[in-house]
Amino acid sequence: MDVRTFWLAGRPATGKTELTVTNPHDGREIGRYSVPTDAQVEEAVAAAHAVAGQAAALPVHVRAEALAHISRRIAERAEEFAQLITAENGKPIVWARGEVGRAVSTFRFAAEETRRWSGGVQRLDTEPAANGRLAYVSRVPYGPVLAITPFNFPLNLVAHKVAPAIAVGAPIVVKPAPATPLSSLLLGEIMAETDLPAGMFSVLPVENERASGLVLDPRLPVVSFTGSGPVGYAIADQVPRKHVTLELGGNAAAVVLADADLDWAAQRIALYSNYQAGQSCIAVQRVIVEDAVHDAFVERLLPAVAALVTGDPSDEKTQVGPLVSEAAAERVEQWVREAVEAGAEVLAGGTREGATVAPTVLAGVPRDAKVACEEVFGPVMILQRAASIDEAYAMVNDSRYGLQAGVFTRSLDAAFRANRELEVGGVIIGDVPSYRADQMPYGGVKDSGIGREGLHSAMEDMTYEKVMVLTGL
Ligand code: NAD
Repeated sequence: MDVRTFWLAGRPATGKTELTVTNPHDGREIGRYSVPTDAQVEEAVAAAHAVAGQAAALPVHVRAEALAHISRRIAERAEEFAQLITAENGKPIVWARGEVGRAVSTFRFAAEETRRWSGGVQRLDTEPAANGRLAYVSRVPYGPVLAITPFNFPLNLVAHKVAPAIAVGAPIVVKPAPATPLSSLLLGEIMAETDLPAGMFSVLPVENERASGLVLDPRLPVVSFTGSGPVGYAIADQVPRKHVTLELGGNAAAVVLADADLDWAAQRIALYSNYQAGQSCIAVQRVIVEDAVHDAFVERLLPAVAALVTGDPSDEKTQVGPLVSEAAAERVEQWVREAVEAGAEVLAGGTREGATVAPTVLAGVPRDAKVACEEVFGPVMILQRAASIDEAYAMVNDSRYGLQAGVFTRSLDAAFRANRELEVGGVIIGDVPSYRADQMPYGGVKDSGIGREGLHSAMEDMTYEKVMVLTGL
């Protein structure tokens, strides 16, 4: 079996050891990749540091063309990417294709955004003391970006860090998730075809224990992390002076108010509690339904859940595949068991076969059960009843997380109330919390993170404002 090279300062390289990637569906070995040595990691970081000035000064058309090239080439090799994502992650092929399409547009949008990314001018003569003065305001990259990414979107979440870094002219060092590094290594192959200077990017699939060295390295002043809370906050604590963005977990709520379109809400909630086997930070976990429509909603929800096709992720018809590992599925099963022992009722699913957990619906879950208050990261939703909008919104906020919330309503008043009252980074009206357009600001409050992604927001997070004052005008 071929061993995939990693990318060291823009060129392919091999280290002294190799690791294996397995398919979560059947445990089959699907690839091997070479792991960089400490000396190679040092070389990559030194190269990123050395090229930072040149990268920041790259003409916009060079950055834009590189980004457009990456977008085009991912599109040309879309099926190869999709098959790889399905094999390494276990995500059903239809969802993998969706992820690849999103990466294509993430890079395309970055190519457009970098062209719009200019400085501004501010008149200072608003005050007499500043007569004759003008400020020119530009944004400057802090320097090389360390991107640490999770397993659940092994291509698009890498794109969400690589694309804005190139767009602002910052070198980038990617440390992908050990379970799913192959898509980002393939992306490296495409990045290497561009005219970006050598040193501008590296993809280093190092083991977790060695990632701390990268985090602590002062030559990487920006750490853009997507993953779990404990790892993310430990990183932020390790480097309090760095510019750290944390995109963390959640236990997202979907609220179904009495005026909602119940058929639509049931279809969407059934699907988006279970898409990617629930392994999305914005998968629907808590379903809060107003009393008046509770039973009518559940009548529609359960058949929609039962209709989901579970099975082999490479089958075009499969909607719900395995979790990333059998251990992950066992943990989900254990949490469901604990909830049931504490009094919850299983309305659907609750079973496991290997790494696959059947789409599960629980009712009557105690507030302190893990499936209610932690992030399940599996195909499990809990049903909760609310007597009023007030109670429904209070229940959404009864969480230590705050990534996104979805509210099914036709009322503009309820929508604006949700926007005012819900403690989340994004409120999705008329759909599930799982909706994300890659160009919109995206991120959490509370324990769901710090900072924002989405092209423009990530570009801002990777740069600082610099002012030049012109005198005597
Ligand atoms: P994880 O925290 O286990 O790993 C994330 C990354 O951190 C991986 O690359 C991992 O190798 C690396 N890592 C682990 N230990 C490290 C250390 N000590 N130092 C440096 N890096 C280290 O998360 P995961 O299981 O891969 O992903 C699932 C989590 O990611 C969930 O909590 C999910 O909600 C979250 N997530 C958040 C978003 C978002 O945008 N908010 C998106 C996707 C996933």
